[in-house]
Amino acid sequence: MARQIEYPCVYWRSGCTEKVTLDLKTKHESACPYNQYRCPLIKVPVVNCSWTGNLQNLKKHLTEVHKEWTHEYKGSFVTGLVDIKPSRRYCYIILAYGEIFYRYFSVKNDNLYGVLQHIGPKENAAKFRYKVTFDNKNDTGSITICHVARNFEESMDEIRETGRCVKLHFDVVKSFVNLKNNLKFQMEIFRNESK
Ligand SMILES: [Zn+2]
Ligand SMILES: [Zn+2]
Repeated sequence: MARQIEYPCVYWRSGCTEKVTLDLKTKHESACPYNQYRCPLIKVPVVNCSWTGNLQNLKKHLTEVHKEWTHEYKGSFVTGLVDIKPSRRYCYIILAYGEIFYRYFSVKNDNLYGVLQHIGPKENAAKFRYKVTFDNKNDTGSITICHVARNFEESMDEIRETGRCVKLHFDVVKSFVNLKNNLKFQMEIFRNESK
């Protein structure tokens, strides 16, 4: 009987009037349109934006306020990491398939790590994959790595430890860096076909 009691959604202060049973509470709240998100660029020291709001407004906020940090995905694109060196970090917002992604590359402990994190309900991250291709036209080799997107709330340390990201030894990376010390690569994002 107790399970049939309905509770207000945790985001009622933000305007959600939904009442849900305990069974459905978590499910509703992770997808609730009133769920409050922080601007992902709060993680970037030079930006340190303290904006908060719902997911719909976050997209608007990113395209209006952080245009230079945001890429509207229209298919495979060439992108890069400028002046790459150990201990550098690179953040970028990518809007693709109507969703918001946070791309994070970092050089740590002699490795280059890269991940695409989905911002939104946790279960939606697994619906997207990304592919990066490093190709040194002057040389013979190329490297392509494909991974499933992770959720934005997942810690980068955990993603690095579990290897659920791009990971390349910095010695390997060096052979793809151009004379200006920029690392260029091709990037593609896929949405898994829903069954
Ligand atoms: Zn709600
Ligand atoms: Zn912001």
